[in-house]
Amino acid sequence: MNRANQPAVFLDRDGTINEDLHYLHEPEKLILCPGAGEGLQMLGQAGYALIVVTNQSGVGRGYFPLEAVHAVNERLSEILKPWDVEILAYYIAPEKPDAPSFGRKPKPDFLFQARDRFGLSLKDSFIIGDKRVDLETGWNAGLRESILVRTGKGRREEERDPSLAKRAHICDNLGQAARYILSLGSGA
Ligand SMILES: [Mg+2]
Repeated sequence: MNRANQPAVFLDRDGTINEDLHYLHEPEKLILCPGAGEGLQMLGQAGYALIVVTNQSGVGRGYFPLEAVHAVNERLSEILKPWDVEILAYYIAPEKPDAPSFGRKPKPDFLFQARDRFGLSLKDSFIIGDKRVDLETGWNAGLRESILVRTGKGRREEERDPSLAKRAHICDNLGQAARYILSLGSGA
């Protein structure tokens, strides 16, 4: 589905959709987080555009080539097919943290680019991630809400900074995050 002013759910990849295996770059090692397939299916069926925004500094650090990121993304789309989930686009920031970058999170620029490309309504959109930087990206882009999941690094992030709960909604996993979004109603 693709229509003007469609709401989106922007998704971090590692630790949110799939298990965070330190600098994952081998497609065959990809494993979904609990609830990820069902959660994405619910969001897609509710009319949300599903867009992955991923920082992949392993490329900039020279650990693996950009092609490996594409290969993992393709594998992810493949694994999600039984749920009829379509990832509309993957946005990748391959730079090291200290290198100049167009869209490395928490910069909101990939979200603006996706808005212009697909006609999205950011104020009706969400971001789900397992790190503070994902939440900040949503705040910087003016999204409706940023959601932290406790998969991946999420639980550690929550413990490190309990004040995150004041501004972000916190869920156990992507499935629970999807149910939360749908419980809010409207927007999609
Ligand atoms: Mg992550």
